Amino acid sequence: MTELDAVVVGSGPNGLAAAVTLARAGLSVRVYERADHIGGGSASAELTLPGFVHDTCSAVHPLAFESRFFREFGLSRRVDFVVPDASYAQPLDGRAAAVAYRDLERTAQTLGRDGDAYTRLMRPLAERAGEVAEFTGGALLRVPQHPVAAVALALRALEQGTPAWNARFADDAAPALITGVAAHTILSQPSLAAAAAGMVLATYGHARGWPIPVGGSQAIADALADDLRASGGEIMTGTEVRSLADLPPARAVLLDVTPDALLRMAGDVLPSRYRAALGSFRFGAAVAKVDFALSEPVPWADPAVRDAGTVHVGGTRAEMAASENLVTRGRLSDRPYVLVSQPSVFDDTRAPAGAHTLWTYTHVPAGSDADREEAVVGQIERFAPGFRDTILASHSRTAVEVAAENPNYPGGDIAAGAPTMWQLLRRPTLSPDPWRTPTRGIYLCSASTSPGPGVHGLAGWRAALSALRHEFGTRAMPDLSPR
Ligand SMILES: Cc1cc2nc3c(=O)[nH]c(=O)nc-3n(C[C@H](O)[C@H](O)[C@H](O)COP(=O)(O)OP(=O)(O)OC[C@H]3O[C@@H](n4cnc5c(N)ncnc54)[C@H](O)[C@@H]3O)c2cc1C
Repeated sequence: MTELDAVVVGSGPNGLAAAVTLARAGLSVRVYERADHIGGGSASAELTLPGFVHDTCSAVHPLAFESRFFREFGLSRRVDFVVPDASYAQPLDGRAAAVAYRDLERTAQTLGRDGDAYTRLMRPLAERAGEVAEFTGGALLRVPQHPVAAVALALRALEQGTPAWNARFADDAAPALITGVAAHTILSQPSLAAAAAGMVLATYGHARGWPIPVGGSQAIADALADDLRASGGEIMTGTEVRSLADLPPARAVLLDVTPDALLRMAGDVLPSRYRAALGSFRFGAAVAKVDFALSEPVPWADPAVRDAGTVHVGGTRAEMAASENLVTRGRLSDRPYVLVSQPSVFDDTRAPAGAHTLWTYTHVPAGSDADREEAVVGQIERFAPGFRDTILASHSRTAVEVAAENPNYPGGDIAAGAPTMWQLLRRPTLSPDPWRTPTRGIYLCSASTSPGPGVHGLAGWRAALSALRHEFGTRAMPDLSPR
């Protein structure tokens, strides 16, 4: 058998980012993917009716323009994106919605008495969005290159991640807007890690926005795969790797899998201390996902909500905190927090003329087999009366089904490991190079490694740079720009 330079297991955005980086350095690379399609969490399919293209996992891409890897790769020159002026909205009962526009002043106008307080909170971060992205885009266990941005972020996480989180606010709208985005983490509220992640996502929302790829998230995976193949790389779908012994000989093996999967695949190849560290990695709460085909756009009571790329449905800060805290304690909420996006409002390739797709998911305890379609419909109907009548078809997946489709989401944990503060520092181990294992030639590159979940390719890129350096003696970063 001809020896390959590198083998990558998993074709999620991190696996493909790793493969592209290695192939662009002139190495021979093969990717193995268990599913019959590429993309992992960045894929699209007709889930409901013919002609309705749904994003099976990720839909909105706050990191598409901020990820250093995607900037090196020139993603925005390879994939068309629409960037809504309103990154996200928070509908509220009996009053106008809070809306996070890219423009902070316009945002403040939706926040009543708290407009200035919110602007003071967000402006220092929004003005340093690039530095925030640099600081949070790698291993956190290192001296930050941008201390001003790091301190600004830390102070705001401390404020918004503790019970004093309402201190600067007099009204409901601004706190709800902040908690709506912090709740992406599926952590207890308030908590430091949720607040920090929320502040980072909000920063991008007020900088270059939260882009949506034309044609669906599959376009991102396809752009990566096209570049890989153009550089001579191969992708074998429908091939599950159960053991490292199944792989052809290669100088580097990069695994877009979770730490527990690596433990199962590697067995005794890894030293016992490292195995123990991986064994203590913890997964978090989960999601249940519901996709809809609609006859018309969601009839939001406040028309401003329709212009937002993402809608956080769940009411006030107190209400969302209560429902999220139920989930993290292993219970279902009657009025859950629901993430909603309607890409077809911005991209008419997603559905037949006049019709629409709707992407939603809600948080549930790990391993839940509860079908949450009715709860999701109820929450949307609350802020969009008549929504139920627009539904043509739906496709609902429990957390158990989400996990069965992709082993990187154990129990339905789409973050591939709870993004607690401790697990953001040690992802998956405490190291300035957390992608490199102690065993020669073996690297982890999934969202279970720094910098964590999201479609950004950073874990794959950084793992590949580490492999280039340690296995191939190359310190130079390969040119990844479009050819
Ligand atoms: C419902 C949902 C909604 C999300 N929404 C967003 C969003 O809007 N924006 C955002 O930025 N992020 C979102 N995410 C998170 C994002 O999709 C992930 O963080 C990201 O895809 C992680 O990339 P990855 O390459 O590490 O892993 P994945 O994308 O999960 O890819 C891992 C790949 O490896 C394959 N694989 C695993 N084990 C093996 C094996 N043994 N052999 C062969 N192949 C294997 C899997 O089949 C999969 O294709 C969402 C995720 C989900 C599930």
